[in-house]
Amino acid sequence: MTDPRRRVPRTDTLLADPRLAEAERTLGRALVKRVIADAQQKARSGDITPDQVADHAVAALPSGAASLRPVINATGVVVHTNLGRAPLSQAAIDAIVTASGATDVEFDLETGRRAKRGRGALAALAAAVPTAGGVHVVNNNAAALLLAAMTLAPGKEMIVSRGELIEIGDGFRLPALMESTGARIREVGTTNRTHLRDYADAIGPDTGFILKVHPSNYLVSGFTSGVSVRELADLGAPLIVDIGSGLLTPHPLMPDEPDATSVLRDGADLVTASGDKLLGGPQAGLLFGAADVIERLRRHPAARALRVDKLTLAALEATLTGPPPPVAQALDADPADLRARAERIAAQLPDAAAVPCVAAVGGGGAPGVELPSAAVSLPENYAAALRVGEPAVVGRLEGGRCLLDLRTVAPEDDDALVEAVRACS
Ligand SMILES: *Cc1c(COP(=O)(O)O)cnc(C)c1O
Repeated sequence: MTDPRRRVPRTDTLLADPRLAEAERTLGRALVKRVIADAQQKARSGDITPDQVADHAVAALPSGAASLRPVINATGVVVHTNLGRAPLSQAAIDAIVTASGATDVEFDLETGRRAKRGRGALAALAAAVPTAGGVHVVNNNAAALLLAAMTLAPGKEMIVSRGELIEIGDGFRLPALMESTGARIREVGTTNRTHLRDYADAIGPDTGFILKVHPSNYLVSGFTSGVSVRELADLGAPLIVDIGSGLLTPHPLMPDEPDATSVLRDGADLVTASGDKLLGGPQAGLLFGAADVIERLRRHPAARALRVDKLTLAALEATLTGPPPPVAQALDADPADLRARAERIAAQLPDAAAVPCVAAVGGGGAPGVELPSAAVSLPENYAAALRVGEPAVVGRLEGGRCLLDLRTVAPEDDDALVEAVRACS
């Protein structure tokens, strides 16, 4: 009897299989060879037979060359940091595809001359916040704050309330980030209470600016007091407000969430925000402010290191000018519609029931705001199987059940959700 290892098909032979040849075209040779090597190894160790190697390799091919997989966010957390924050609108996705080749991001096709980089996105941002004298876009809100500190407070002090020295996630702390520029934090007030006079007493020749940070991922409640933007603006020192979530105008569901338009109107010199939270766009840091302040930021040498790529500019512009992105749709969803969808989905599945539940804004926005919602409730053991399914579905565990909260699921994904659950039952 021949040694079975001798009959394991050779790599060349396998690469000639039409299915694997096609995969080589879309995924690249190295990746396909790695999948083939795994299958050959399984045959050598007797896990599969030699004539199963090709089929096994085909089945093990990833769907794309990158390892990131699509996920249906059924957590009920609208802006979920671990799931990539805001899902992009179709308009933004289309804009990214268009911009992905050679594109006129920094070129005027009429004159054949160099043009201002990202002018379309900047114009859309300026139009969305007309109270801003100037706008600028960097890589994320952390970069926006970094640029502000480098430009407006080199070697100087940034006055911040002790109640606003926040950690933004994954161990990153805003004070440490700001101090990495060489500017110093001057803490004022206490964790729960800071008064106008605390700020006023701290202002002096070393003051670079006052920084007001929106506590976007926690609530300080009880015996508390803070100082409004309007009062701080009256102190005369430059005032920067980090609103975090990226609301450009007030949102009725989130009355306590600051927005760029109102904060500028109240006298802030500069406002910073994220692009991929409540705005529902790509990761970006948005800066709104007086024209001369924005111009100084743009001209700082480090601005070049913080600039965004053409894909971000494309997605940001389309988010601002196009139809409401998924985040806006999730926030504005009608609870009655959510209930109807939950009932329709549950009726198609064994072990499932439609239940009312409460969704959250999440992702550094509107802590404490409860969004009435509806979910498909499944036995708890579905959760793990759904996570590794295709597409992956991430729900949340509550009261010993796996809830699939429909507020964060796009209605067009309902059928895929049904299929994903069926594949687990
Ligand atoms: C989310 C957040 C940040 C960090 O923003 P990134 O865009 O992730 O860099 C900073 N400040 C506040 C108040 C935030 O909510």
